[in-house]
Amino acid sequence: MVNKPRSYIFVASVFFYSFSFSTELRIKLFSGKNLYSISVLATNSKLIFQSDSTAISVADSLTKFSFFSLNDSVLLKSQGLVIGKFKSITMRFENNSEIKMDVVLNKKVTTRTYDGMIEIKSVGENLMCINIINIEKYIPGVIQAEVGKGNSVEFNKVKAIIVRTYALSNMRKHELEGCHLCDDVHCQVYRGKSVIPNILTAVKETESMVLVDTSLQLVNAAFHANCGGQTCNSEDVWQKPLPYLRSVTDSFCVKVPDHYWQKKIPKTDWFNYLQKKYNLTVTDSLQNVLLNFDQPQRKVYFLLHPAISLKSLREDWKLRSTWFSVKLEGEMVVLTGYGFGHGVGLCQQGAMQMSKKGYGYRQIIDFYFSNVTLINYAQLNFFFDN
Ligand SMILES: [Zn+2]
Repeated sequence: MVNKPRSYIFVASVFFYSFSFSTELRIKLFSGKNLYSISVLATNSKLIFQSDSTAISVADSLTKFSFFSLNDSVLLKSQGLVIGKFKSITMRFENNSEIKMDVVLNKKVTTRTYDGMIEIKSVGENLMCINIINIEKYIPGVIQAEVGKGNSVEFNKVKAIIVRTYALSNMRKHELEGCHLCDDVHCQVYRGKSVIPNILTAVKETESMVLVDTSLQLVNAAFHANCGGQTCNSEDVWQKPLPYLRSVTDSFCVKVPDHYWQKKIPKTDWFNYLQKKYNLTVTDSLQNVLLNFDQPQRKVYFLLHPAISLKSLREDWKLRSTWFSVKLEGEMVVLTGYGFGHGVGLCQQGAMQMSKKGYGYRQIIDFYFSNVTLINYAQLNFFFDN
């Protein structure tokens, strides 16, 4: 009874945070590309430009605006006339509607549509473009860019939770560039907004939910395309053992195309590579060992202990996974393998199959991650700020 008033206050606070909390992300767009110019047509609402936190212009609709980089400044033009030169400039529509931009990237024109605000700066000869966007509006775009439009709501819920957890636990990745994350594979792929109902519903129904471990730390929400039938322990791939990234046997991903792969390499190329890279003298008996390498289960980390790791073979030969066996067929070395990707955490194709069989997103998450909890991230803030 003594504790009761206290827990009442706690619950009330959690509710307060849940309703008042929102996170704005700064996403660096067109990462790794040369961005020459950006054009925007003010359409159904007034376009508001802002520079150094002062409103510099409210643009009428049906006017086209273009941005260029000039001597470390952003040049804003409309209908051939220069409106001004700015260190950085931010734009949004008065009614906060989406911003559709034509961008010239590596000399090609691409059209992209973003929610939120767009900030433009000049970096050398090119423009740098940042999307300032609420995290819940960013997530659908990532889901569509990473796994496509055609998945079920339940699978998209799993993906939404993973994308959100990743974003919040990697917010310092691009700190030096004045943003949180980039829009490419280095962080999470993001090509603008998604309007796919199955994606939007999934994000809405998992709003603010993230995955935490037993110490209430955001998890490393690792995923890959196909585990081949058995996922890996985190330390098998990245050294660090994590209690929630444990190997599981996965029977769900075994009937899809990426489950199995084969690669044939001429015998002379294979042994030249091993000799050159690892300074090996390939004797007959060593050749025999190297050509009868078997991995019925994922358990071996070396083709030859301790020098030739499967991980480096995977990188050098662009193999789909480290789970493969080697044998000789005539003059060809045949690598036969399972899965696609590093194999740690969620197997996306297995998760898709689980959702088709009627498993819910919580069951799918609990199958691939051990001892994790779903929590509203506003509550995390409460725990750590108090
Ligand atoms: Zn990045």
